[in-house]
Amino acid sequence: MRTQQRMSTCIFMLFAGVILCIILCAPNFISAKSEGSRINPDEALARLQEGNQRFLANARTMPHTGLDRLQELVGGQHPFATVITCSDSRVPPEYFFDVGFGDIFTIRVAGNVCDTDEVGSIEYGVDHLGTPLMLVLGHSHCGAVTAVVQDAEVHGNIPELVDNIIPAVEKVKHEHPELAGDQLITASIKENVWQSIDDLFRTSPATRERVRQGHLKIVGAILDIETGKIEWLGTHPNQDKLLQYTSGPKTKSGFVHVVYFWLKEGVTDAQRNRLVDDCKTYLGAVETVNHIEVGIPAGTERSVVDNSYGVCLILHFEDKAGHDYYQKAEKHLRFIERNQEIWDRVQVYDMIPHSTER
Ligand SMILES: [Zn+2]
Repeated sequence: MRTQQRMSTCIFMLFAGVILCIILCAPNFISAKSEGSRINPDEALARLQEGNQRFLANARTMPHTGLDRLQELVGGQHPFATVITCSDSRVPPEYFFDVGFGDIFTIRVAGNVCDTDEVGSIEYGVDHLGTPLMLVLGHSHCGAVTAVVQDAEVHGNIPELVDNIIPAVEKVKHEHPELAGDQLITASIKENVWQSIDDLFRTSPATRERVRQGHLKIVGAILDIETGKIEWLGTHPNQDKLLQYTSGPKTKSGFVHVVYFWLKEGVTDAQRNRLVDDCKTYLGAVETVNHIEVGIPAGTERSVVDNSYGVCLILHFEDKAGHDYYQKAEKHLRFIERNQEIWDRVQVYDMIPHSTER
């Protein structure tokens, strides 16, 4: 009997120990980040470069493309690089880098822009899965960048997509007024890669921290779809500056700036339309503007309605600091310089939305 009792006690203790272990370990297990592949950033970069060399030499080995590899990965993925590139059907990165299942964590979006959802996916790749390399890959003949360069009229949800590309194109036009046609598009495609990297650093504290700690390298590159060759651009030329960003994810508006413009007599529709376009192009591209609406009077006829203004502009900022930055931003000053001739009165209403009022 005594032996049986001792055995029962032993079994109970063992059982309790196992339960305790599970309780203690479970939260760590759930929140544990993958360590990613165990290679360093430069080795990861070399793997992509070698893959592209094989592609160019028509010597692809097409590794990791079988069902067996896929089944190996059922328990978890450990990709060695996170790649954001364009949705363009001509640029599937797995082919150009000669990689297969589980090798690269990929985000594809027209114009390889880094807006909120894309940055969230990138954070999953570089922070949660712990990839040592992050690549922003633009490509020649990119339709999204070309549309912005040519100021093409876009509809539906596309304006929200291309607004990330506008600052890059504006920068190139401003710094290189001599460029036109294909040269302007090519320069804008490259600048758009830097813009995406800038947007990533600006909105992702987790990404900045991984880079600071040396766990992550972020590089840009351009794929030439005529040759299949990748032009490697390296890290952002101002990365040290980008690492000083203190901002986080875009949050909802905490400051709304409403502006009414009364236009001078004799101002034509074309001049008014340019003012509207410039609001979008220049003011909408200021880094701290989260949302922009611009338009003309609706012409409703009620005694309380004032239809006398020419153009109304509504800008949303995260907070007052964002608005203060905007007031001094170069793009804002250029907007004023380009349009001030046509208005004779400006009225501003600044508002703190009720939901964010303290
Ligand atoms: Zn594209």
